[in-house]
Amino acid sequence: MAEVLRQSRDVPVTAYCDVAVIGGGPAGVAAAVSAARAGKRTVLAERLGVLGGAAVGYVNPISGFFQQGQRVVGGIAWEFVQRLQALGAAQIEYPKGHVSFHPEAWKLVAQRMVLESGVELMTNMTLSDCAREGARVTYVILDGKSGPEAVDARCFIDATGDADLCRLAGAEMLPEAGEGYQPASLCFVLEGVDVTTPLLKNCIHHTGAGGSHSANDTIHAYLDACVERGELEQFGGPWFNTMVQGGAVTVNVTRQGGNGADRRELTRMECQLREDMFRIVALLKREYPEFRSCSIAASGINAGIRETGRIRGLDTVTGEDMLSARPWPCPVARCAHPMDVHYACSSAQTVDYYASAAYVPHTALIPRGAQSLLAAGRCVSADARAYATLRVQATVMAIGESAGLMAAELCDHGEIDPQRLRTAIRQRGVIPAGM
Ligand SMILES: Cc1cc2nc3c(=O)[nH]c(=O)nc-3n(C[C@H](O)[C@H](O)[C@H](O)COP(=O)(O)OP(=O)(O)OC[C@H]3O[C@@H](n4cnc5c(N)ncnc54)[C@H](O)[C@@H]3O)c2cc1C
Repeated sequence: MAEVLRQSRDVPVTAYCDVAVIGGGPAGVAAAVSAARAGKRTVLAERLGVLGGAAVGYVNPISGFFQQGQRVVGGIAWEFVQRLQALGAAQIEYPKGHVSFHPEAWKLVAQRMVLESGVELMTNMTLSDCAREGARVTYVILDGKSGPEAVDARCFIDATGDADLCRLAGAEMLPEAGEGYQPASLCFVLEGVDVTTPLLKNCIHHTGAGGSHSANDTIHAYLDACVERGELEQFGGPWFNTMVQGGAVTVNVTRQGGNGADRRELTRMECQLREDMFRIVALLKREYPEFRSCSIAASGINAGIRETGRIRGLDTVTGEDMLSARPWPCPVARCAHPMDVHYACSSAQTVDYYASAAYVPHTALIPRGAQSLLAAGRCVSADARAYATLRVQATVMAIGESAGLMAAELCDHGEIDPQRLRTAIRQRGVIPAGM
């Protein structure tokens, strides 16, 4: 057994609230705004200096709003898109309904919505521990520049993506699926690319125009040949996307397998992804005139982590539930994005489309083995196939908004009444009327 250093420390309690949300990605932002709008004193803690999580790591577009032309996600997520649009920073790409956006505007709109709703925002604060009374979480410990601080809340929402708080609280976790997690990608921005020729003209939008689907098949075939020649180890896609404002494009092409919630693995993956980003750009410059004058303008502050471990909830939603649109007693979100699996060991991707949008049940947000605690976003209880569809931004924001309403229920009534929750979710339009 490794040597263990035992320490005790006094931690000042610096905030008292009804709902503490940990993690300021799409799910956490929606959860915090939702709880505050439900009248709860709310704290949102985020380890970085910006809100947005994976969404602002040059992942583009926002997916999951539309199923066969009908919008199935509303509420805070749709309001968020409308506010991006008002800044001229979002473009809805019909008929698929993907929303291309500018990542800097994502950060700004999220921050405005959080602050306007009265949430106490704590950036640069990393969750490091929690205190419990029995199974009940009573405090979270956050580490920042001013040292450790404790937050006292009546209900906690884990929106860390990796279920950090649920683990610390001793909640049950699902075992890792045999095939491992989907790969991580370091997404980046290229400026100076010629997007006027047929090579990229259509694929930076997600309209399906010109017969194009999302990934660029021509460049995929070229990079596959580079892999065969030993010039490159791995890649995915590639997907290019407009940032709506300016001429630069986001690029999603690097790919590394591993566990992004293990710090050693993460270091290895991020170093390799950065090497691959430069290698791939050099290969593109060599082959295509469109890339000859381009340069890397930015890359994600962290690798984009597609998948890590998830809680075992009161119910675990499965791929079969999703494909059959199982009508749970209290759905918290509808999923329109297809089952979209990226493979860790090759450039392959499989996509299974729905006949009708799927449902996420409220019980997938309630962890077994811990109380006063909910999960929101990509760490909810889902098998690998269900996960491959609910992880997109529109859906995790809807899950986040519903988690905020569930937390308000816990504060007001000490329990979640599915009938009352269903009504609140409908009133908010998280699931639009008639859906
Ligand atoms: C490469 C890639 C491509 C993608 N492509 C698309 C796409 O085209 N369309 C789409 O809609 N979605 C896409 N996604 C999925 C989507 O971006 C994510 O699934 C979504 O952002 C998950 O939201 P979340 O809030 O649950 O978690 P995250 O976005 O992971 O946010 C978690 C937040 O918690 C913070 N945090 C973590 N640990 C702690 C801690 N201990 N203390 C404090 N804060 C903490 C993080 O800094 C982060 O801000 C993609 C994802 C990746 C990685």
